[in-house]
Amino acid sequence: MILYDFHLHSSFSTDSDAPLQEMIEEAQRQELSGVCVTEHLDRDFVPEPGLFEADPGKVLQEIRRLQRLYGERIEILFGMELGLQEHLGPYYENLAAAYPFDFLIASQHLVEGKDPYEKNAWTGRTVSSLLLSYYEEMYENLKKMTAWDTLAHLDYIIRYVPEGTPEGEKEEWDKINELLPEILRLLIMQGKCLEINTAGLRTSIKRTNPSRELISLYRDLGGRKLTIGSDAHDPAWVGYGFEKARKMLKELGFSAYSIFRGRKETELPL
Ligand SMILES: [Zn+2]
Ligand SMILES: [Zn+2]
Repeated sequence: MILYDFHLHSSFSTDSDAPLQEMIEEAQRQELSGVCVTEHLDRDFVPEPGLFEADPGKVLQEIRRLQRLYGERIEILFGMELGLQEHLGPYYENLAAAYPFDFLIASQHLVEGKDPYEKNAWTGRTVSSLLLSYYEEMYENLKKMTAWDTLAHLDYIIRYVPEGTPEGEKEEWDKINELLPEILRLLIMQGKCLEINTAGLRTSIKRTNPSRELISLYRDLGGRKLTIGSDAHDPAWVGYGFEKARKMLKELGFSAYSIFRGRKETELPL
């Protein structure tokens, strides 16, 4: 069983309206043992800083209040989702040291300064050219930072390819296929985790990020460490698709997933 949801957002993130307590209520209703609250921090990108970016201490205060309120009934941990950008490494390293975080997620949300979620990021582009840029940026950013525990939704960009975008050139696809194992090797060498993000299971792609193929590749390269998160921005999606993900991971030969307390890893059986 997957008993912890290690990726969720509340109204402290700019893209969620859900009160944190409602997220916790839903997790408890599902009889999860715990959650890690991982509010967004995409500095220098979102036009208005979210409440979390403005003052991480406020989120911590609310988490402490909920920890007292729920006591033993559910474990509530304090994380953050760092939006990677080339110039932000030192800023994130400082921030990570300034608060008692349990867990840090690294996420490449942007490519060439744009969110691939926005259609205009794809104007005049092929799939291969933008994917290649995306993975190159991710690889460079991950190499420069130590303040992270898991790499979130590795193939996030795939969710947003607009229909009809030309596939692109074989040469670029070959480069992408060389780069992906390099990114996974970096995780393995640095002792970091690969996140299995279940949000895609409720969208048109109908699968986890990363894909089953990439998770198999990670295993073949020697990767064993996984974290699991729903990326819920609404109480309805807490823990979504966990049983499906668990079955797939068991089929692929994984037997455990990781949770973090005070940035120290503990493995739990799948
Ligand atoms: Zn994300
Ligand atoms: Zn997220």
